[in-house]
Amino acid sequence: MWLDSASMPAFPALDGDTTADVCVIGAGIAGLTTAYMLLREGKTVLVIDSAGIGAGETGRSTAHMFPPDERFSELERGFGTVKAALVADSYRRATDCVESIIRVEQIDCEFERLDGYLFNPHGQWNAVLESEYAVTSRFGLDVRRLERVPGLQFDTGPCLRFARQAQFHPLKYLAGLARAIITLGGTIHDHTRALDVGGDAVTQTVRCKQGAITAGAVVIATNVPFIDRFVKHGMQQSYRSYVLGLRVPKDALPRALLWDTGKPYYYVRLASARPDANYELLVVGGQDHQDPASPPAQQRYDEIEAWARARFPLAGQVDYAWSGRVMEPGDGIALLGRNPLDEGNVFIITGDSGNGMTHCTAGAILVTDQILGRTNRWSELYSPDREPFHGGTQLRFGTGP
Ligand SMILES: Cc1cc2nc3c(=O)[nH]c(=O)nc-3n(C[C@H](O)[C@H](O)[C@H](O)COP(=O)(O)OP(=O)(O)OC[C@H]3O[C@@H](n4cnc5c(N)ncnc54)[C@H](O)[C@@H]3O)c2cc1C
Repeated sequence: MWLDSASMPAFPALDGDTTADVCVIGAGIAGLTTAYMLLREGKTVLVIDSAGIGAGETGRSTAHMFPPDERFSELERGFGTVKAALVADSYRRATDCVESIIRVEQIDCEFERLDGYLFNPHGQWNAVLESEYAVTSRFGLDVRRLERVPGLQFDTGPCLRFARQAQFHPLKYLAGLARAIITLGGTIHDHTRALDVGGDAVTQTVRCKQGAITAGAVVIATNVPFIDRFVKHGMQQSYRSYVLGLRVPKDALPRALLWDTGKPYYYVRLASARPDANYELLVVGGQDHQDPASPPAQQRYDEIEAWARARFPLAGQVDYAWSGRVMEPGDGIALLGRNPLDEGNVFIITGDSGNGMTHCTAGAILVTDQILGRTNRWSELYSPDREPFHGGTQLRFGTGP
């Protein structure tokens, strides 16, 4: 869907050995945001991607920025109030950061601030809404209880409204980031797969078929770590999420984000169709399931379509259907920072769950600080070195059944 309305810059593959202060592996939102931030701090940065910009999950994302899938109340229960409040702080800063980069670099990527609504699919106020409301109010989020989501044909029942969430076109954003990286003197190589990373506390070497990259630090931003050593065993599991894009008449639906407390849950946003179209796209996702998925994908798409048509009778033909991989951290918090199984100069950004736009941006902020030797108060919270079990609680995986 995004590829139909974005033009992605392409770059030549690596051609021989080279050096940089930092080598970033992966040109999704995590890698490109990190590269951009480090360049702004005066580092020399080289980005490689085995395919091209946005070829991974960022191109499959529905790209809205909203509260954690895991819910603040769950995070408070598992990690305590101080850390859950830090998550809220990181979410706020990450969303502001994306907005600020878009403004500074004048990236035309349909970014908009809009309200997000969480509701119970059974139409009643429930314990999840109640505890989420209590915790987020305490954390100072702009959250309100409403009788229903306004402006929809179907009655959602009581809901929470989170003000000033965000959505954007993920590939247009990446294309803009890539242009800014080149303007700042960075280098990007498509079709360059990292095969291995090795070295010591001073220098790391990224080995590729086309040559070796020697760098003072390496950032693994490949979503799925491509070497076991890049993440401690048992910290995350792979899920799959499914999405449809259905035509709806322009301006017929309120501009809002929706998601529910169901299991499996559904999420909804609007997106522009091609500029000449007289309709827009209702993007409906969900049916998250542990990889490898079963039953077959078509059944998941059918379920999503039935769910969407029951609630949005205006919806017309399905133009797009796709799925992608979501890395679910067992304790609900992304894995961002120094890789404990390496020297101190190898960093990872993974375990994004369904909040990758936010987590990857927070990861870029955090890793940039760590590479520059600055303290960051999220370091311990997101540390990939934390224990895979928290407070004696068994890891809980995913939102799916
Ligand atoms: C269907 C779906 C809907 C989603 N919706 C949302 C949403 O609404 N909001 C939200 O916040 N998040 C959402 N997410 C999650 C989000 O999209 C991801 O967490 C995020 O895009 C991950 O970004 P990334 O940069 O870490 O990885 P990617 O975008 O996957 O980028 C990794 C890159 O690394 C490259 N690579 C891999 N291995 C190598 C190697 N060995 N050498 C070189 N390059 C390599 C790949 O080619 C790829 O381009 C969704 C995900 C899915 C699948």
